[in-house]
Amino acid sequence: MKVLKLLEDFPQREALKASELKFLEWLFIIFQLTAFVLIVGLLSSVFSIELIAPILDLVSQNISSPLILIFLAVLHFAVILLLFSLSKPFTFYALLIFVGAMVLFSILKLFFLEPTGYKIAGILIYSFCFLYFMTSRRLKVRFFYKKFLEDATKTIICPGCGQEVHLDFENCASCGKLLSADAKFEILKKQILDIDYPIVVRVGKITLLADTFGKKALPFLKEQYDKQLVSPYRNIDIVAAFLKAIKDN
Ligand SMILES: [Zn+2]
Repeated sequence: MKVLKLLEDFPQREALKASELKFLEWLFIIFQLTAFVLIVGLLSSVFSIELIAPILDLVSQNISSPLILIFLAVLHFAVILLLFSLSKPFTFYALLIFVGAMVLFSILKLFFLEPTGYKIAGILIYSFCFLYFMTSRRLKVRFFYKKFLEDATKTIICPGCGQEVHLDFENCASCGKLLSADAKFEILKKQILDIDYPIVVRVGKITLLADTFGKKALPFLKEQYDKQLVSPYRNIDIVAAFLKAIKDN
């Protein structure tokens, strides 16, 4: 499963590092900022359209309506803010829609206007951005890591049919089996000990078990903590999670 692979490759600390903006993202930001500055310059008559048309594909088509220009300027600026602020899946889709729309818009314009090198370049740049957004692992980590981790932590396996179910569900969505609190408790314990799960997910499940079941989880937590301490395969993050869960209860 792709999601678990991503979580396995990035412990939380490294996920933070991996989601930092690097060269290509900065280039994209500069590109957007330039577009913003040029449009504002155009609106305030600092630049003439003849001067900046070759640089700015969007405005180069003589959009005469100041309202559309203002809208475009806001859009370019909003994209920059989006990249910096909310690290949520929604942000990623918003960015993708913007870049995709720019590709589509540029291609459509080609049908009505003479294709020039600048217009082709505009399409290529945004197409490249679109492909990069779709394939960049760093952006996936930036925007999806938290959600992936939350989902993986809260996903349990139904003992009836073996399908994945969200922990908050009362019944299995696939086979309808009633998932009692006791059943969930047992499943979570099993998952915590399952080394097929990424460490970061097991750590999340330890915290979840302790938060959900409190004192009831204490004997299990203590037993596993002691086992970890003497295990040759102990993992520092797992040990720390057990210790914290014990202390919190
Ligand atoms: Zn089921």
